[in-house]
Amino acid sequence: MGEAPGPVAGESAASRASQRATSAAPTAAQVVSLRALLDPLVEAGVSPADLANDPIRFVRRYGKAPDQEVAGAVSACLAFGRVSLFGPVLTASFAVADAHGGPAAFALALARGEVPGRPLTGLYYRWLKEADLVALFATFGRALAEHGSLAAIFPPGADSLAHGIDALRRCLPPDASRALRASFPHPRDGSACKRWCMFLRWMVRTGAPDLGLWSHLQPADLVIPLDTHVFRVAGFLGLRTRRAPDWRAAEEITAGLRALHPPDPLRYDFALAHLGISGRCRGHRDEVVCPACPLAPGCRA
Ligand code: SF4
Repeated sequence: MGEAPGPVAGESAASRASQRATSAAPTAAQVVSLRALLDPLVEAGVSPADLANDPIRFVRRYGKAPDQEVAGAVSACLAFGRVSLFGPVLTASFAVADAHGGPAAFALALARGEVPGRPLTGLYYRWLKEADLVALFATFGRALAEHGSLAAIFPPGADSLAHGIDALRRCLPPDASRALRASFPHPRDGSACKRWCMFLRWMVRTGAPDLGLWSHLQPADLVIPLDTHVFRVAGFLGLRTRRAPDWRAAEEITAGLRALHPPDPLRYDFALAHLGISGRCRGHRDEVVCPACPLAPGCRA
């Protein structure tokens, strides 16, 4: 699940923040043909194999909203690279959390300094070290303690993500490492914020495989979690003009998908992402896989 890199060189943060995506919206004819390609992908449902290879499976294990919020936030923050690499770290971390009453109880206890020793001994993922993982749980614990829920820090509206990230940054410990701070990118800096867009999709959408936990946000306001696979396939389908996988590209692709399905543009995200994650799309024309691809009639690769 490769995350998009940062902003385009030469663009100021202010100009990026003030501009919305300006791609040509799909024509009526394109909308019809894209729907004909993409709707069957969604209607085919979520395959167990794709679900097993997606970080949302760590969130779906929990039945209570506070646990789902914390498990979702932690899982999203670690969801870069292959699920086979970060998955074992999440499994081990949540086993520890469960032994302390679940992810929310563990996060709150860490935030209050009530967990002695090193509860996540030996756990790390890439640049997030053991202390960063502990601080990550504690950050969400502070957010729960101060706001009552993670839902409360994401207000309704199109700027929900920006407000939520600002609030979460205020919950970071003063000595948070650079690696930990990098887990909280912001749209105003140009980042596509893939992991946090994915977290919001999990919490807000009601369609499979998402949780539909937060009814105060509208699926129509979500922005697509722009990973390398979605970015690539969106290009093949003519859904973007942006050449860099940044926040504006995410907005541009979302706008195109919104033309297909205004109430819920992200209904296509899981299927598009897993085309690439599963290897059913290899990211280029391929005489083995392309003939069987349902997107082949509209693919420009
Ligand atoms: S036709 Fe081939 S390159 Fe295009 S999306 Fe399908 S698998 Fe990928």
